Amino acid sequence: MALHNGSVDRRSKVNDVTMRFLLPILLVAGVASAQPVPHQSDGMPYDDELYRELIFDDYDRMGTNRGQSWVLPYKNPRFFIRLGSATECAHNWRLSWRELHYWRAVVPIVAEQLTGTPYLERVRAGCEDRQPEYGWVIVRYVTPAEYSSETGEQWGGDQIDARALIGDTHGQVWIRWNGSHRPLSDGIRELIVHEIGHAFGLYHTGRQTATMNWDAVVGDTFPVFSGAEEAAARRAYRAGRGARYCGDPDRCGNGFAPGYVPTLDARAPVAVD
Ligand SMILES: [Zn+2]
Repeated sequence: MALHNGSVDRRSKVNDVTMRFLLPILLVAGVASAQPVPHQSDGMPYDDELYRELIFDDYDRMGTNRGQSWVLPYKNPRFFIRLGSATECAHNWRLSWRELHYWRAVVPIVAEQLTGTPYLERVRAGCEDRQPEYGWVIVRYVTPAEYSSETGEQWGGDQIDARALIGDTHGQVWIRWNGSHRPLSDGIRELIVHEIGHAFGLYHTGRQTATMNWDAVVGDTFPVFSGAEEAAARRAYRAGRGARYCGDPDRCGNGFAPGYVPTLDARAPVAVD
């Protein structure tokens, strides 16, 4: 997901003193009031189009979707946020403490919204370059050159951009950063939530108000995911990783039985912006 000029800096016009002293209070209050997370999906009708788009990639790859759910095989991935490179981590973090605080605050909220299960793990941060490992989502803030050397792929020219592996059991998210200072804006918040959605196994939807819209409109993120997206994700997590499309999974019975497919994790990872 890319952010373009004009969408990133909406909050930068807010008085800096207000940001520095009031935002932490507002964030803490917001986190406190967000527990427990309202269950918007309760009573939501089954939305077949959205379910297929989000869970089976029917929008991005029409006619080629693999017909299996790639939601995580676990509901409580541990997150590790890498703060910078080994040489610059101590004195030149690539994300502000506000941005790191947002990761810590929003991961549990997103996890519970999408899986329907309280998040019991912690979001950790550090300087070491941890390799992906099962049960973890590793978030790296990288320069374009670092991303290219690691993945062999070039990246576009946006000021800030992000990419994640869809529902990879060894979850990975890259936040590309070009080196200039940036505030924590609504656009950055939406970028983070969108990529977490990918890490949990969600594809894109064409719905304009959805967080997983492929070209999401800034400002639609709260309360983080729409009720319809939350309902679709929870259905997928109830059916389980590897479940096949069969319409509403809560009603499918054994026609296309939900269930884990042992070979699923051996696939080539699919990176999505
Ligand atoms: Zn995306």
